[in-house]
Amino acid sequence: MLEKYVAGENVASYCTKCKLNLDHTIVAMDGETIVKVTCKTCGSKHKFKDPAEAPKSRSPRAKSGNGTKMSAESLWEAGLAEAKGKARTYDMAAKYRIGDIVMHDRFGKGVVRKLYMNKCDMLFKDKERLMASSN
Ligand SMILES: [Zn+2]
Repeated sequence: MLEKYVAGENVASYCTKCKLNLDHTIVAMDGETIVKVTCKTCGSKHKFKDPAEAPKSRSPRAKSGNGTKMSAESLWEAGLAEAKGKARTYDMAAKYRIGDIVMHDRFGKGVVRKLYMNKCDMLFKDKERLMASSN
């Protein structure tokens, strides 16, 4: 969808008053984004709402990928959400506790999931890794 719009043109938009997808006239543009439209049916001016996104498609964002590698990533997200404190730069000489957030210069953000003697499991966005530490 790379059409160029200009103010004054017609566009299909979701009308916040009629609660329907209707013909609208573009009132204002911001670069290539439609900002304001006038409803041809009720005459009200409102923000442009892409009919494809309205009314209540609760942004089921078409995620790429198909569930297989979701688990690691969602675990990772959940782990980060639960974890408290700031991310610390990963250092194999450091001591970690479960739930610590680690910033690794290659793997990115990780969460400490399990502790072992002198190493720990850290969950990174792509997968869990056994990392050296000084526990
Ligand atoms: Zn309307």
